[in-house]
Amino acid sequence: MDLWVTFIGTAASVPTAGRGTAATLVVRGGSRVLIDCGEGTQRQFLRSGLGLVDLDAILLTHLHGDHYLGLPGLLKTYALRGRTEPLPLIGPPGLASLLGALSGVIGRLPFALEVGEVGPGTVLVLDGARWDAFATRHSIRSLGYVLVEDARPGMFDVAAARALGVTPGPLFGRLQHGETITGIPSMFGRALTGPYGSVGWLTGYESLAQMEKANDAQAADPTMLKLIDSTQGCFVEDVGATQTTLYRKLA
Ligand SMILES: [Zn+2]
Repeated sequence: MDLWVTFIGTAASVPTAGRGTAATLVVRGGSRVLIDCGEGTQRQFLRSGLGLVDLDAILLTHLHGDHYLGLPGLLKTYALRGRTEPLPLIGPPGLASLLGALSGVIGRLPFALEVGEVGPGTVLVLDGARWDAFATRHSIRSLGYVLVEDARPGMFDVAAARALGVTPGPLFGRLQHGETITGIPSMFGRALTGPYGSVGWLTGYESLAQMEKANDAQAADPTMLKLIDSTQGCFVEDVGATQTTLYRKLA
């Protein structure tokens, strides 16, 4: 999924001829999130060539004027354009009373402003990703935001699985659903595979019970690698040295 970050305003607290005050646009796939909305943000949108972006959410880092004074104009323009989509507006405590103070300037809006006063933690889930807030140091209460994408399991490597002796069919599906597969004779005596994300594991054990027993013994004594006589076809190898991945990471 594409991820674009556009620096809409990069001046500090005072704009310059070429720069606006704080505003950063993050576009991920079809979702558009603005972090801070300094004075003149809507003009900076136009100057950026993106046009007046219909935002899915606005996150404010803190309530100093250079981070929110662009809000009344932007919201007013959305109103004039007939926006009806609700707009989440998220920031630290004090945001609701700030909007109360600005209500006479902003006036009536034809869309809902979903105001959220937040602290550290997940503050927004959008399009399969979440936005987490974390505390930052400033002269007043302030937040930073991090975009966290869901883990992706990657692509199942059919050729690698076949080479390891897994027959196509239900076993492929079980591996792809994160299950641990045991009892494959060609794996006996070999290490585990499939270390990425929610991918399943292919083990050199004949059963889950054997594997658990071996894991318990190894946990109790990390130096004990060989747990069961290899003539029975089951033993623990140094996984880090010999493991093979069944998955290719997506770019
Ligand atoms: Zn500040």
